[in-house]
Amino acid sequence: MPIQRLSPDLVNQIAAGEIIERPASVLKELLENALDAGARAIHIEVETGGARLIKVRDDGRGMDADDLLLAVESHATSKIAALADLEHIASLGFRGEALASIAVVSNLQITSRSAEADHALTLKAGLGEMPVPAPHPVGTSVEVRDLFHSVPARRKFLRAEKTELRHIQGLLRRIALGRPDVGFELLNNGKRLMHFPAQGDGLAANRIKDVLGDAFLKESLAIDVDAAGLRLSGWLGLPVAARGQADLQYVYLNGRMIRDRLVTQALRRAYADVLFKDRFPAYVLQLQIDPAQVDVNVHPTKHEVRFRESGLVFDFLHRQVARALSQGGASAEQPALA
Ligand code: ADP
Ligand code: MG
Repeated sequence: MPIQRLSPDLVNQIAAGEIIERPASVLKELLENALDAGARAIHIEVETGGARLIKVRDDGRGMDADDLLLAVESHATSKIAALADLEHIASLGFRGEALASIAVVSNLQITSRSAEADHALTLKAGLGEMPVPAPHPVGTSVEVRDLFHSVPARRKFLRAEKTELRHIQGLLRRIALGRPDVGFELLNNGKRLMHFPAQGDGLAANRIKDVLGDAFLKESLAIDVDAAGLRLSGWLGLPVAARGQADLQYVYLNGRMIRDRLVTQALRRAYADVLFKDRFPAYVLQLQIDPAQVDVNVHPTKHEVRFRESGLVFDFLHRQVARALSQGGASAEQPALA
């Protein structure tokens, strides 16, 4: 075949495939948008594990008619404007392609009302239509219907409802642990599966209890340290809470969930003296750092970041966690940490 330019439709399909893998990936994008919009309460409804419907309603700042039309265009965002903004991203999104990608692989409808507007507007994406008035309080509802209806190959790969729900619930746990100040509710086929009421800021033990259960809280110690422009807070599982796999490790960097090698290694090292080799530490940690000190523009979905001063971050995490574990261990009920 000679070289041809791909049609915009085809380009969009390929781009969408990179971001949208399954219902949980749609939900992640919608939840991040709601959080970026300053939502305090987020209501999620799915049908058949998200294959038929994924709906997210928030009470964030909402959108007006112009925003609504632009929101579903690719590379349109309200979160960055200039190259320099990439140097200090404080929002979860910034690429401006999630809604456009979702629109390519589903039937997408957005209903929104900004605080200044006297009524809400609703828009069906991709039909060349204009927004029309609709009832909705200040905030936004995004409805994603019939995911992958246009991509039979992808639709075939959707797993059983149960499996997709497991991914959805895993994602919601992860996001909810990072934002105890926001309330979350999840319904599948009209049945409430999860409910995490909004908590105060800070270490929010209640959110930990709601998401991970009492056991983890009883077997962990709180940490909150501030040094060299870095702040680390959250819960460190004691050795008794260690696990056979790395399935209870939640780390948030400036509110963004990350799975980063450097962070994982630093924590593993910090736990090395108190854990057997084949055990994995459990923790829920928030790391705050000047956004200019970290590059989050690495990959659209992978949770990697790049620290400008990686050695400093590594040492900080290692030292602070090791110290907290040795001090906490002495006062905890556990006889010894070793
Ligand atoms: P990004 O989040 O990277 O900017 P998206 O495609 O996810 O790209 O969203 C495009 C734009 O639509 C956002 O920049 C934001 O202005 C607007 N938007 C999307 N979801 C919401 C929402 N729930 N509330 C308010 N505005 C939203
Ligand atoms: Mg987004």
